[in-house]
Amino acid sequence: MGFEDNIRKVTPYTPGEQPRNKVIKLNTNECPYSPSPKVIGAMQDFDWERLRLYPDPAMTEFTESLAKHYGVKPSQVFAGVGSDDVLSMCFLTFFAGEKPVLFPDITYSFYDVWAGVYRIPYKEKKLDDEFRIVAADYYEQNGGVVIANPNAPTGRGESLELIEDILEHNKDSVVIVDEAYIDFGAETALPLINKYNNLVVVRTMSKSRALAGMRLGYCFGNEKLIKYLNDVKYSVNSYTLNMPSIAVGKAAIEDKEYFDEIVGKVKATREWTAKEFTSLGFTYSSSDTNFIFAKPPEGYSGEYVFEKLKEQGIYVRHFNKERITDYLRITIGTDEEMNILFSALREICDV
Ligand code: PMP
Repeated sequence: MGFEDNIRKVTPYTPGEQPRNKVIKLNTNECPYSPSPKVIGAMQDFDWERLRLYPDPAMTEFTESLAKHYGVKPSQVFAGVGSDDVLSMCFLTFFAGEKPVLFPDITYSFYDVWAGVYRIPYKEKKLDDEFRIVAADYYEQNGGVVIANPNAPTGRGESLELIEDILEHNKDSVVIVDEAYIDFGAETALPLINKYNNLVVVRTMSKSRALAGMRLGYCFGNEKLIKYLNDVKYSVNSYTLNMPSIAVGKAAIEDKEYFDEIVGKVKATREWTAKEFTSLGFTYSSSDTNFIFAKPPEGYSGEYVFEKLKEQGIYVRHFNKERITDYLRITIGTDEEMNILFSALREICDV
């Protein structure tokens, strides 16, 4: 059929809705608080006349401040336009073999999309009935491993022992640990980058640094892996981060005090809201993230509660996917937003 035959056709990732009207937005795991005042200061101080020039393609200001903050070498850091960009570059760079890449059946729904667009073979490994990763599933021959820890949308964190077990059994392929939610729970695999030269740890500023709109992500790994990543990046788009983003990223990473404050607030809200979910008859496992993955009480389907909440201007996330269709993924908002959510849920679920 002519040109149609030459087109790369893919099933794209479906992002959570970004409604334009004022709603209570608990559907895409953003931070309910504003970014650090230092970030806002960096934006105000930015010399906009500099924008006529291209930005630093190595994003040195940002990568050096990340290296300093996390105690690694600048040559062990790579940054991109959100961790989606970093992860996408990792898939393109590290998964160029014939063997399938392994990741859980229930995890970040972008992994199979990148595998699809880059024509990477993959195999999904079933989480157990409690949505836990079974390390032994990752012992088989593969072309790479991707683990989100804590996992999304389940909210469950796995132990560092489990991550290391997977690393021990996968010395011949690159293992990516996506730590988008690590600041809210679970133990980071970051120190292991000096022990395993095939480990990449991916992070984002979208959640715990309240910068989803700025699009800042980064990863850490052995210098050689970072070089390979840069080689691919420079072959696709050399100037990924714009100048204001680079300045903002540096300012954000340097404000540890504010970071601790907002992460602490999200965790405190998570603790009392968990109890509230229990009293409403929802079931869930404890969360290591800035969201709760919860199942409404008997007789109320995930989709029904999702639609009813939406009618009231409260957005949560529902996945029409096997094994998780009964669940809702609800981002932790402010105390006030959660109280509004709970009064709506009491009405909807007749409690
Ligand atoms: N990884 C996981 C597990 C996520 O949930 C998200 C958020 N959608 C991302 C990566 C990407 O986040 P961002 O591109 O905003 O850094």
